[in-house]
Formats: sequence, structure tokens, C-alpha cells
Amino acid sequence: MAFLHTITVGPLETNCYLFGDEATRECAIIDPGGDEDKIAGALKKHDLRPTMILLTHAHFDHTGAVAALKRRYGLRVGGSQAEARCLADALLSGATWFGIPFKTTSADFLIADGDDLRVGNVVLKVLATPGHSAGGLSFIGDGLAFVGDVLFCDGIGRYDLPGSDFETLRRSLKRLLALDDAMRVYPGHGPATTIGRERRSNPSLAELGLGGE
Ligand SMILES: [Zn+2]
Repeated sequence: MAFLHTITVGPLETNCYLFGDEATRECAIIDPGGDEDKIAGALKKHDLRPTMILLTHAHFDHTGAVAALKRRYGLRVGGSQAEARCLADALLSGATWFGIPFKTTSADFLIADGDDLRVGNVVLKVLATPGHSAGGLSFIGDGLAFVGDVLFCDGIGRYDLPGSDFETLRRSLKRLLALDDAMRVYPGHGPATTIGRERRSNPSLAELGLGGE
């Protein structure tokens, strides 16, 4: 059995997810966007042992606590090749744009479409979902999908940022909508939802001709 804890972090209220194996208490930290002490507190409170940091993408609001957590727990950071360079680039990360102080960091292993990531006995499957950012990834396991800033409850990701591309985002949304209706969706910001709910009632998807029954 898998478990999930959600922690809202940083100035843009990013969802940081602790996803892992109930039996071994091992977990991945997905998108630690800031507030490292808050994340560390949740790990302690729930008696969890982090084994890696995973990034859906490398915008600053998803990576603000990477350097600190890496140091604190000796963790390795995984992200896609296209996102890895944002980790060392304040401009690409979006930090400059928001006037946020930027801490350079780096990826320790690269993840690509089709990879399986093991957290204890739980597996996360990697689905490439670029478009909001050049190398966006979704992580799917145990009926849950962590989709970063590609799909939201009643919204879709921005496609006007450096590295964004509308047609690419559209293809990624189509890919996500091919998942099971019952699949629970955990976006980078805002409430969780399901594929079925978004297919039926997300106005932005309807506008793109991707919604409906
Ligand atoms: Zn983003």
C-alpha cells in the first residue's frame, strides 16, 4: 500500500507531495518548492524516510527547497534532461521574473518517459508531459497521478513561459486524458481531482476540444 501526504509550500503555494510505501516508510519527495523546515517536520511527524527527490519540472516554485533537503538528508535529485539545466539557471527557472532569490542546484539522475521509479515496494511510472515547461514529467502509481503544472482542477498549465509550447501542452493533456477516469490527479497547485472530473467539467479542456464524455 502506498501513502500520500500533501504539504503546501513557498510563495506560490506549491503542492509538495510525500509519496511512499506504507510498509517500509520510505518516500519520495515530489516538488519540494520551499519551506524545507515544514517538509522536514512532516517527514518527522509521519516517521518517514525520504529516499529521493523527484521533480515534475524545474520552475523555481517547485525546487526552492531542493538544495537544503539534498544537504540535510543526502538525497539524490531526479528530473528530466530538458529540466536539469533550469536548476542552475535563474532565468529559465522563472525566479528572476518573480524577483525570488535563486539557489543553484543540480540533478543527480535523469528520468525519461517509460521509466519505473521504485520507492520501497511501490512503483511510480514516468510519463513525459512537456508543454508547460520544456521537459515536464508526470509520475503515476497506485491510482494516483502527479502531474505538475500541466493539468489543474478546472484549469490547464500556462504556456506563455520560456520553454512552454501550446501544441506540446495540448498533446500532453491528451495523454493524461487517456488515463483511467478514476485516476486521482495531484497537481502542482490547488486541490486534487480526477481524470474523469476534468474530462467532464474542466472549461479549459472543453475550449481545446479535449473535454466531453
Ligand atoms: Zn511551473
